[in-house]
Amino acid sequence: TNLVIAIDGYSSCGKSTLAKALAKKLHFIYIDSGAMYRAVTLYFLRNNIDVNDHDKVIAALKDIHLNFHARDYQTHITLNDEEVSEEIRLMPVSEYVSAVSAIREVRHEMVKQQQRMGKSKNIVMDGRDIGTTVFPDAQLKIFMTADPNVRAERRFKELSAKGDPITLEEVFENLAHRDYQDTTRVESPLVRATDAIILDNTNLTEAQQLDFATEKIEP
Ligand code: C5P
Repeated sequence: TNLVIAIDGYSSCGKSTLAKALAKKLHFIYIDSGAMYRAVTLYFLRNNIDVNDHDKVIAALKDIHLNFHARDYQTHITLNDEEVSEEIRLMPVSEYVSAVSAIREVRHEMVKQQQRMGKSKNIVMDGRDIGTTVFPDAQLKIFMTADPNVRAERRFKELSAKGDPITLEEVFENLAHRDYQDTTRVESPLVRATDAIILDNTNLTEAQQLDFATEKIEP
């Protein structure tokens, strides 16, 4: 039977960094579930679909085709055959994605696609509801957290390095805003699965986090 590793937690906790490292080490497929919500959000923004107009949102879902392209353990996602991996990280998408991901029909569609991807393959998937909703039977569940200031600084550095003119305060606000929306939404809110192992990486290096996770798989 195939293995699923679920990594959930707050925004910018280093989930994808750990997930990628684990996938590489174990030769599993890495799937970034957040990229899917981001790509859907990008589609709505580009097509001027008001995220509060749920009927329009639901009608548009059938026109959205997402695909992952496995390559060097990074996220390569296409939206209707266009590569959007870079654009989905930018502020306009980050601002709206939590509102989009709170819509029940959007979640149902994404969860369905995610479950299909993990059906017969060994995968590491990161997100907010992987251990609770998408793969409640995952063999390993990790719930990541870190000091909010440290998280904002890490993300700020990452975005600045890419030339994004965003300020540290804006990054902090965006993370707080998304965490608030993600933990308070009605449809599968962000919550630790009771059987998930907590990993607070405020003071841990990437290598230490990888060791921590690897030990849980190969005791
Ligand atoms: O992981 P990332 O921060 O890129 O995800 C962007 C947003 O997508 C999150 O803030 C959250 O609103 C939503 N998301 C979600 N469920 C997931 C993954 C992401 O609701 N499994």
